[in-house]
Amino acid sequence: MSFVFPPAPPASIAVFNSDDRLPVRRIFCVGRNYAAHAREMGKDPDRDPPFFFTKPADAVVDDAQVIPYPAETGNFHHEAELVVVIGKDGRNIPVEASYDHVWGYAVGNDLTRRDLQLAAREKGRPWDWGKAFDRSAVVGPVHPVAQSGHPESGRISLTVNGEVRQDADLSELIWSVKEVISTISRSIELRRGDLIMTGTPAGVGPLAVGDTCVVSIAGLGEISTVIGPRA
Ligand code: MN
Repeated sequence: MSFVFPPAPPASIAVFNSDDRLPVRRIFCVGRNYAAHAREMGKDPDRDPPFFFTKPADAVVDDAQVIPYPAETGNFHHEAELVVVIGKDGRNIPVEASYDHVWGYAVGNDLTRRDLQLAAREKGRPWDWGKAFDRSAVVGPVHPVAQSGHPESGRISLTVNGEVRQDADLSELIWSVKEVISTISRSIELRRGDLIMTGTPAGVGPLAVGDTCVVSIAGLGEISTVIGPRA
């Protein structure tokens, strides 16, 4: 058997303090997982079961890259997020066993074409065109659990050109990392290389050409992205 054309190289993210890279299989994202962000999006925070959307694996972008301002949007937003990297397959994972499936953690930025997302939301259509576009998932170097532990609290913040836009604590997550892993695994089998973007705190806002956007999480360092001219 041979392929009719060569398969694309696997999408991957950097590993902290290593030349190795971690292959990415899928990207799951949690919607409205901080109460203050749910409110700013015009929704009531609650303990209804978490909901998810996805991005293609090859949407990942490393730290310190220039991302062209994307097509078809005039409201391109940042979203600071903790990223969980799955290292062990599993389905129907009990909450208390969830951490056994984590390879490590990274700092992320869930880039969003907010105008397209909200237009889809109003019409009951899928969010894909607002969320799952090219270069929409900035993910910094993954820190292995052996080094990072499992962060359950600590500052998560985001600046644009040095001005603080988002500033919260991981302990404010409505659904914890353990609960999110367990919930996803009851619907689909989680696989090694899957990433979970765990949701963003309040303060999301627009990015403009020339902006430098920096996301920081205590213990996991920071990632920086520059917005370039429209491609
Ligand atoms: Mn998000």
